[in-house]
Order: sequence, then structure tokens, then C-alpha cells
Amino acid sequence: MITIALSKGRIFDETLPLLNAAGIRTSEDPDKSRKLILGTNKPDVRLIIVRASDVPTYVQYGGADMGVAGKDVLDEQGGQGLYQPLDLGIARCRMMVAVREGFDYAKAVKQGARLKVATKYVQTAREHFASKGVHVDLIKLYGSMELAPLVGLADAIVDLVSTGSTLKANHLVAVEEIAQISSRLIVNPVALKLKRKTMQPILDAFAKAVG
Ligand code: ATP
Ligand code: MG
Repeated sequence: MITIALSKGRIFDETLPLLNAAGIRTSEDPDKSRKLILGTNKPDVRLIIVRASDVPTYVQYGGADMGVAGKDVLDEQGGQGLYQPLDLGIARCRMMVAVREGFDYAKAVKQGARLKVATKYVQTAREHFASKGVHVDLIKLYGSMELAPLVGLADAIVDLVSTGSTLKANHLVAVEEIAQISSRLIVNPVALKLKRKTMQPILDAFAKAVG
């Protein structure tokens, strides 16, 4: 049995065509069903639905043989013990620093001010500002980061941006790019060794479909 870990939403939706290219189909939609284990047309392949930030954990400890995880999550957690053979080019966005419209970020940095930064990506933010020599107080949030600068909780946020419409709607502007983000195929190396006969054709089909 091969278990593939995916998260609901855009990663699931954008991985489906790749699974199809590998001849794997599921009739179930995780956005409509409460099932966490989805069968496929292949009796030896199943999908599990987990939180985006839990995908590396499942694959690392063998709860899943492979999965799809955003580079944001892999950078934040380190991705130890995972084989990352393929950038799937899906769920593309950018990790950015954003501030309130009118906040002079360049000036604050230049003056060596201590910045309050709210983010779900504490490790990523810490490394980014350390590499620039900017002193920051990091505030860990679990969602709705855009709110933090509006109520004075933080001067800046570090978050994923794709179209920028959420920032715009909340009168924030992106001032710095930290990284380009897309989702990666991640594989448990031991599983690959033991189940290569079933897994390798899936990896090959994904690689071919991605181009
Ligand atoms: P949860 O709310 O369950 O903790 P999450 O909010 O991180 O998870 P999503 O917002 O669905 O989950 O994001 C899942 C992944 O999709 C992220 O890790 C990232 O790689 C990618 N992603 C997030 N936001 C965007 C975006 N705006 N555009 C493209 N890809 C994105
Ligand atoms: Mg979310």
C-alpha cells in the first residue's frame, strides 16, 4: 500500500492532474467529505488529507510514503529526513514582508529601529531579518496576519502573497520578497527503498507531467 499525504484546497486541487497523469483517480472531494482517507482506482494507492503544515511530519515518520508540501512549510520546519525530488510548480506565491500603507519600512530599517513582526513563519522571519542585520521582536500568530499591523500589534508581517488583493483590502503593502514559493513532492527515503516498484512509476509520471 502506498499512502500519499495532501492538504485540502489548492494543493489537493492542483495535485489531482498530476495524480491523473500517474493513472491515479479518486472519486472523493475532501472539500465536501469528512473522510480523511480517500481510496483511489488503484487498490494499492490511497490518499490522506492532513493540515498543510502536518504533511512533512506524516511523511517523515512514515504515516505517509510521500506527499505534497509548500516550500514555505519545508523552509520553516527544515524538511529533515525527507527526499525532495521534484518542484511541482503548483500553489505558487511569494513569502513577503508587508507593512501598513504609509509606514516607512526603509527608514525604520536604516535607523536600526527594533521592528515588531507578526507571522506564522517565525523561523523563516528570524533567519531573514538576521541575515539583514535587522533587530526584530517576533510575534507568533496562527492566521489573519494582515490584522496585526492595523491594530498596532506589529509594525510588519511576514506572510504568503499571491495576487496581493488581501493586502490591498487591508491597506497593507509588500515591501520585501523573502522567497519564491511553490509546492514540492516529498518522499520518505526508507519507503522509497522498500516500495520502489510501486512508487517509482508515480514519481516518474509526476516528473513527466511537470515537464
Ligand atoms: P491551515 O489553515 O490548515 O493551517 P494553511 O492556511 O497553511 O493551513 P493554505 O492556506 O491552504 O493552508 O495553504 C497551504 C499551502 O498552499 C501553503 O503552505 C502554501 O505553500 C500554499 N499557499 C498558501 N497561500 C497561497 C496563495 N495565496 N497562493 C498560492 N499558494 C498558496
Ligand atoms: Mg489557510
